[in-house]
Amino acid sequence: MGEMARKICKLDINELLKILNEAFAEEWLAYYQYWIGAQVVQGPERSAIQKELMEHANEELEHAQKVATRIIQLGGTPLLDPAEWTAKAKIKYAAPKDSCVHTILNQNIAGERGAIERYQKICEMTMGKDIATFHMARQILTDEIEHEQDLEDFAADIALTGCAVKKK
Ligand code: FE
Ligand code: FE
Ligand code: MG
Repeated sequence: MGEMARKICKLDINELLKILNEAFAEEWLAYYQYWIGAQVVQGPERSAIQKELMEHANEELEHAQKVATRIIQLGGTPLLDPAEWTAKAKIKYAAPKDSCVHTILNQNIAGERGAIERYQKICEMTMGKDIATFHMARQILTDEIEHEQDLEDFAADIALTGCAVKKK
């Protein structure tokens, strides 16, 4: 725990830590949702999409790392038990029970939209008040915006093929 790092934070640190732990839980769930989706996905452009899903999985894990580091700097403890992830996450985990590429893309797009809102809010709340957390949230926000775009592009391209996609 950084004594000065805590002192310069102009926000209620306990409230901030609660929010950061929610985001931390969401990152782990996003990691797993992407990872397991990459294993089971079926349909057009499978190998290209698997590759993208795995890339995003790894980026979500990097986000979990960044958020954990910041939680510790602020004197908190990242959630220690995976059982807490689903309980604390506000963005709900969507199991890829339907392995159709279209369904999996849509589930992950919904997750990214939640993540964009999450980091936009953290940016708004920390701007000028906790510059280090703001900087972290801004970096992650940029990644989440890119993730949404990547998946939307895949979904649009697949829709052009007219296959499996009419399900939704
Ligand atoms: Fe993320
Ligand atoms: Fe993401
Ligand atoms: Mg990408």
